[in-house]
Amino acid sequence: MAEFGMVIVGAGEAGARAAVELRTHGWTGPVTLIGEEKRAPYERPPLSKDCLVTEEEPSTVDIINHRKLAQLDVNFLSGSVVTEIDRNNQSLILGDGQQIRYERLLLATGSRPRRLSIEGSDLLSLLYLRTFADAIKIRTQLEPGKHVAVIGGGFIGLEVAASAIKRGCSVTLVEAGPRILTRGVPEEIAYMVEARHSEAGVVFKLGVGIKSIETSDEGHVIALSDGTFVHCDTVIAGIGAIPETSLAAQCGLEIENGIRVSEKLATSDPNIFAAGDCCSFPHPLYGGKRIRLEAWRNAQDQGTHAARSMLDSIESYAAVPWFWSDQYEQNLQVIGLVDCGEKTIIRDLGKNGKLFFHLSTDGRLVAASGIGAASITKDIRIAEILIEKQVKVESSDLENPKVKLKGLLRLQNI
Ligand code: NAP
Repeated sequence: MAEFGMVIVGAGEAGARAAVELRTHGWTGPVTLIGEEKRAPYERPPLSKDCLVTEEEPSTVDIINHRKLAQLDVNFLSGSVVTEIDRNNQSLILGDGQQIRYERLLLATGSRPRRLSIEGSDLLSLLYLRTFADAIKIRTQLEPGKHVAVIGGGFIGLEVAASAIKRGCSVTLVEAGPRILTRGVPEEIAYMVEARHSEAGVVFKLGVGIKSIETSDEGHVIALSDGTFVHCDTVIAGIGAIPETSLAAQCGLEIENGIRVSEKLATSDPNIFAAGDCCSFPHPLYGGKRIRLEAWRNAQDQGTHAARSMLDSIESYAAVPWFWSDQYEQNLQVIGLVDCGEKTIIRDLGKNGKLFFHLSTDGRLVAASGIGAASITKDIRIAEILIEKQVKVESSDLENPKVKLKGLLRLQNI
C-alpha cells in the first residue's frame, strides 16, 4: 500500500484527526492532507464565541500546527482545491492541474452554510459563519450600540446573538419555526435558552419568514411575513448547513443525506471513506438508523475511526452523539438522540440546572440533555455510559436528585 499512500481531502476537525491517527496507528507510508484554507487545521467551536468577544486580536486555535504536521511527515497541501476524483485511476486532480494518486482516500469535506434565497433582495452583504475569516468579518460588525439582526434560531444564530449582546449590540433574532432549537433539543430546554436570551435583551420574532431585505446607506430593512420590519446595521444568517458532497457525487459515490457510508465509514467504493459533517452513517445503538451529525466531537471521533478503517480495521463506529453549546453563563449539552426517546424524565438540580432523560418504550436510556452549570458535564458523561450499555433504568431513580447517577452504572443490560 505504500506506493500512493493515504490522501485526505478536507483539513478540518475530521481530516486533521485522521492524519494524526494514521501515524499513531502505525502507518509509515505517505500521508497527504489537502485543505482549501491556507491556515493549519483549526478548531471551529471558538468562532461563534471567544473569537467574537475577545478584547484581543483573535487568532485561530490550532488542532495541529504546521511544525507538528511536518514532524509527523504529513504532506500538507494548504490552499489547494480538489476539482475531481478519478476512481478508475485512484487519483485526484487539484485546481492547479496537479494529479495525486491514492491507495485509500478519506473525504472529510464538511458542510457549508445554507444561503438565504429571496428573489429581488440584496443579499450580498449578508454574513454567514463557517471559517475564521467569516468570524473576523462578523466581529468587525459587532460594535457597541449597533443593531444586529440574526436569522435562524439554531446554534450559530444563538451563539452569535449571545456574543453580540456581550459586545454591547442590540439583537433581533428571526426564526422561521415556532420555536428556537428545533433540531434535537427538548422543547423545555429551548424555552429556557429563549428566556435567558430575552432577559439579556434579545428580541425574538418566531414563526415568521423573510419577505425581502433592502440595503441602503442607512443600513438594512428586513420585511417579515407578519407585516413588520426590522431595521438593523448588520444581518447574520445561521439557517443550517449543507453537506459538502459535490466531489463524491461527481465521481458516482452513493449519496443519501450526505455521502453514504457503512458502519466502518467506507463509501460505496471500498477505497474511499468519509467522516464528519459530510457523511451519513448507520448507528448501531439506534437500530442501524442512518444519521448525519454536524458536531465537533463526531468529526473528531469519525476522523480517527476512518483512519483506522483505512488501515483495514473492521470495527463499527458506535460513539454516542454529543454536542454542547455555551451561551452567557449557561451550558447546554445533549448526549444521544433525543428524537429516539418516547418518554422524558426530568431531574431538577435546583440552581445547578435541569437534566432530561429520554427513554425508549422499553425503558432504556437513549438520550440525555441538560442545561445549567458546567457541573452537568459529569451527569451527561454518566448518561453516555448508560446509553452505551443500553441498560433499563427506573424513572424514579432518574427523577430523584438524591439518587446518585453513578450508582446506576452497576446496572446490567437485560
Ligand atoms: P441549524 O442548527 O440547522 O439551525 C438553523 C435554524 O434556522 C433552524 O431553526 C431553521 O428553522 C432556521 N431557519 C432556516 N431557514 C430560515 C429562514 N429562511 N428564516 C429564518 N429561520 C430559518 O443550523 P445553524 O445554526 O446554521 O448551524 C449550522 C451547523 O453548525 C449546525 O449543524 C449546527 O449544529 C452547527 N453548530 C453547532 C454548534 C454547537 O454544537 N455548539 C455551534 C455552532 C454551529 P427550521 O428548522 O424550521 O428550518
